[in-house]
Amino acid sequence: MRIIHDHGVYLPGPGLRLDPQRPQPFAVVTHAHSDHVQAHDEVVATAATAALMRRRGVTRPRFRTPQLHEPVAYGAATVTLYPAGHVLGSAQVLVEWEGSRCLYSGDFKLRHGRTAEPAEVPEADVVIMETTFGKPRYQLPPVPEVEERLRGFCRQAMADGCTPVLFCYSLGKGQEVLAILEGEPYPIYLQNEHWDTTVVYREFGVSFPEHRKFQPGQKLDGVLLCAQQCRKAAWFQRLGSVRTACVTGWALDRGAAYRYRTDAAFPLSDHADYHELLEYVRLTRADRVYTLHGFAEEFAGDLRRRGLWAEPLRAPPAAAPLQLSLFE
Ligand SMILES: [Zn+2]
Repeated sequence: MRIIHDHGVYLPGPGLRLDPQRPQPFAVVTHAHSDHVQAHDEVVATAATAALMRRRGVTRPRFRTPQLHEPVAYGAATVTLYPAGHVLGSAQVLVEWEGSRCLYSGDFKLRHGRTAEPAEVPEADVVIMETTFGKPRYQLPPVPEVEERLRGFCRQAMADGCTPVLFCYSLGKGQEVLAILEGEPYPIYLQNEHWDTTVVYREFGVSFPEHRKFQPGQKLDGVLLCAQQCRKAAWFQRLGSVRTACVTGWALDRGAAYRYRTDAAFPLSDHADYHELLEYVRLTRADRVYTLHGFAEEFAGDLRRRGLWAEPLRAPPAAAPLQLSLFE
């Protein structure tokens, strides 16, 4: 199956666009993070992704929301969504066409989170996979250990009379952090976007500890979950004494807290770490791997040294959009 990077993944054989970054008549969307969300005419996505996209203001598409594992016909091709473990509703896309099975991972992780459906990896002939953390040094520590450190950080801040503020993305990480704080002895406040997204999670049956919507200007007696950009807001300046932490896989980088200008950095991620990327390739049993995002060159090189066929899926130069496309 021919595979092209054309503002997203394009399979010209069956004519399918996966996570296209420009509006299209028809698109398969793996999850609701904003870099994947455009005003397409018709979208195939899970019901949770469709609900999250609508909540984020993307109301134009007609949504087709098959169940996970339920094949959908598109011309001569069949498209089947499998859970990706990244955020609620996130899916891998298996495309079957002319006897070939092509699997697109979207964003994924194999570790079991608290708020996303656990990933299930189907077998395929060709894989297109995200490689955000595709270098060996990106090995995440055991999750329970990081969770305990995060809870300890909040307790200590409270004991010291400071408001703990956890910077985390509003879709996915925010809900994981909220779930991690289950049983802690202080109120949990969510900033607006985090709150709205969490409402959708609750509608899809995810349970959380009690939490409250933060009203800018109010005095806080607990921990606040919000986006990093909030620190520029006038209300943030009025919070008084705060102790801040970022929650991101990039916390594995040396000096992350300094770079994020926070008091602490906790390495929790919604993406696969290096070893999970390798495990993913093994589980798919694919003999061709295209890498995408992050350390795509490095990870493809790594796979080649291990005897696999692997190439980064590169965007063609703008002047000659198809000449340097990759062919299977
Ligand atoms: Zn994502």
